[in-house]
Amino acid sequence: MVQILPGIHRVDDVEENIYLFEEGGGKLALLDTGYPGTAPKIKHHVEKSGFRLDQISRIILTHVHPDHVGSLRAIVDLTKARTFSHWVEAEFIAQRPAYDGPPGGGNRFDPVEVDEKFKDGDKIDLLGGLEILHTPGHTPGHISLYSEDQGILLTGDLFFNQEGNFTLTPPMYTHHTQSAIISARRVAKLKFDRVLTYHGPPILEGGKKRVEELVKTL
Ligand SMILES: [Zn+2]
Repeated sequence: MVQILPGIHRVDDVEENIYLFEEGGGKLALLDTGYPGTAPKIKHHVEKSGFRLDQISRIILTHVHPDHVGSLRAIVDLTKARTFSHWVEAEFIAQRPAYDGPPGGGNRFDPVEVDEKFKDGDKIDLLGGLEILHTPGHTPGHISLYSEDQGILLTGDLFFNQEGNFTLTPPMYTHHTQSAIISARRVAKLKFDRVLTYHGPPILEGGKKRVEELVKTL
């Protein structure tokens, strides 16, 4: 794992950005879990960094896509961690009903009952207090996480940062692009400098400018 900011680690050797937050009392929180089969890699990297997998006490899911919840069942079984998502997305994560939006075909994962269901504006006591922002569009119950104090915006799949291009996640993966545009305009007004996307390298400075420039084009 690589520490990218104080108290925030990125699980390396997986294509996506799975973030691990250090909490007080030796506890850890995980943001998203990777495709099915990623749990052994997460375990390996957590242990290589001197932590134990059973220190993970909370798992937050930005949304239901299988590259985010694919290893959720396996990691919950290994850690007994409590799970968190937006209340709309929680029903899809439990497959009640199964999510049938884009990209389609590859939406297979083992269902999990989410323990704690967020609504927009909720706070979670991580990184000194992260605000939950309901940022629908990519999926109906997609969330972003925000710390005004630390100037950090964790955007899940609201944005894509691939090969130097900072964009909305492409329509082929997105439930409703017009809603994603409204979500992007909303977050562009916040105060932040760092944008941590799930796909592509984290933006550790100048993130607000990147979002503002993108939003002007939408
Ligand atoms: Zn997604």
